[in-house]
Amino acid sequence: MAIERTLSIIKPDATRRNLTGKINAMLEGAGLRIVAQKRLRLTRAQAEGFYDVHAERPFFNDLCTFMTSGPVVVQVLEGESAVAKNREVMGATNPADAAEGTIRKECAESIEANSVHGSDSSENAAKEIAFFFAEEEIVG
Ligand code: ADP
Ligand code: MG
Repeated sequence: MAIERTLSIIKPDATRRNLTGKINAMLEGAGLRIVAQKRLRLTRAQAEGFYDVHAERPFFNDLCTFMTSGPVVVQVLEGESAVAKNREVMGATNPADAAEGTIRKECAESIEANSVHGSDSSENAAKEIAFFFAEEEIVG
């Protein structure tokens, strides 16, 4: 097992309900270290660029509107198997399917407003981290 990095985003539904600290505690409780973090309001262009892989999906437009509806917290998480570990603590995309004790089970409002994003592979993690952070902003 190797130390990895992954990109996490605390989404606008969660920042609006003041859940940043709770989610960070759940991430840290799962053994993930927050090695970079910033709060920002995504522009439409940033949201569309970030979710480019979903451009043909029917929910793409609504997703970009949602992701620009309020502040997000983008963060780099580091730890053993960080990509898989983060996906595990996040829970399933649809909170109705998310396991007990996961962030989406505890926090998500809907399949769209599901509180967190997490990279789905180490290749995508590298791209997504570079989308938001310069290497010197990441302090391991
Ligand atoms: P995940 O975030 O679990 O990796 P996806 O990559 O499939 O899920 O989708 C990206 C995001 O798009 C989801 O987190 C969610 O916010 C939104 N989304 C996914 N599926 C739907 C859907 N059927 N209806 C509305 N929004 C969706
Ligand atoms: Mg995804």
